[in-house]
Amino acid sequence: MQQCDFAVIGGGLVGSAIAYGLASQGHQVSVLDEGDVAYRASRGNFGLVWVQGKGQEIPLYSRWSMRSASLWAALSQELFELTGVATQHHNPGGVHLCYSQAELANREVELNALAQATGRQFTFDMLDHDQLRDLIPEIGESVTGASWSSWDGHANPLYLLRALHNGIRHYGGEFVPGSKVNRIRRNGGSFVIERDHQTLTVGRVILAAGLGNRELAPQVGLDAPLVPNRGEILVTERMRPLLDLPTTYLRQTGEGSILMGDSHEDVGFDDGTETPVLAQIAQRAVRALPALANTRVVRSWGALRVMTPDGYPLYQASESHPGAFVACCHSGVTLAAAHAKCLAPWFAGAEAPSEITPFTAERFHVQTSIPA
Ligand SMILES: Cc1cc2nc3c(=O)[nH]c(=O)nc-3n(C[C@H](O)[C@H](O)[C@H](O)COP(=O)(O)OP(=O)(O)OC[C@H]3O[C@@H](n4cnc5c(N)ncnc54)[C@H](O)[C@@H]3O)c2cc1C
Repeated sequence: MQQCDFAVIGGGLVGSAIAYGLASQGHQVSVLDEGDVAYRASRGNFGLVWVQGKGQEIPLYSRWSMRSASLWAALSQELFELTGVATQHHNPGGVHLCYSQAELANREVELNALAQATGRQFTFDMLDHDQLRDLIPEIGESVTGASWSSWDGHANPLYLLRALHNGIRHYGGEFVPGSKVNRIRRNGGSFVIERDHQTLTVGRVILAAGLGNRELAPQVGLDAPLVPNRGEILVTERMRPLLDLPTTYLRQTGEGSILMGDSHEDVGFDDGTETPVLAQIAQRAVRALPALANTRVVRSWGALRVMTPDGYPLYQASESHPGAFVACCHSGVTLAAAHAKCLAPWFAGAEAPSEITPFTAERFHVQTSIPA
């Protein structure tokens, strides 16, 4: 007998957004999360809700990011009303800083191509130094200019996670921490989820275990060829208002700290920090915002991104195990609203969102033929 409609494996931002979407539609959902011993990108990320520049190779990804960005404010408000937790979502637009005329010109070419590929749905402006200074009065002299897009914003990812967890419970869903799934097997039309000394029988199963999907996916006929990619972040003490809008690697939180990040390091499953990398991040931050020069750094950490070989998401239904799905991406903050509002209904039987069509694992299985 089924104990639940859905098991969502993984309680990070991807699993929690999906579980929230399902629970809010009236489905019985159980979220099983391994907990602190697992790698958890959702607790170590930068908090951007970012569209600018995304999807240059696959423009549907830009559309998917825009769909999510446009649903974010309503999701944030909904979560606040239900749970009392404010995500600190703020959408003043965002800037990507450039340090030479050549860099600025390249950026314009890239973003123009993206705007064109999305039928001009994606919009942006190029700013010279003086125009940028109107937005960020204390911007460093060596910053030549920036691209700005109204699509971009930021939020506090930890508050988002808490709001989603509370929202799941509000709708009668269950969040079970310390609950590592070891094995998934089929039993008739159901799935049996095996944990230490416990099983759960469910109608459908969503694999949203981040890097843990690598081991789980093959058990239900899916493939999740994920690799870790480390990012390191520094946090300053609380400061006076310095940055009204987020940049790709600097943002001021609702409490006033400045987050500086982030690196892209291919170091396997090492989520530590390294002083030379942190020093580089700090130097780049001071160049952008000289007021940071004498500021105290109070925290730093490393966290592992959940990366597919091409960096785009993976959303797939299993053909061999109907009712099993995998979902993972490296922009779980940005895509949280699309995951809750557009992806969750697909798992429950609605049509798949048109934007996700390219994002199956088949794109990694390209056959190369050897001429005879
Ligand atoms: C440094 C850094 C900066 C980033 N910045 C941004 C940003 O600015 N904006 C943005 O949109 N995204 C950003 N990201 C990406 C974002 O954090 C991730 O896309 C998102 O957190 C992925 O969420 P997830 O739920 O898939 O994975 P995770 O957060 O890793 O969660 C996976 C969960 O699955 C659980 N799990 C694993 N195996 C099992 C198992 N066998 N059984 C049960 N549970 C299991 C784990 O306990 C974990 O809680 C950043 C990431 C990093 C590392």
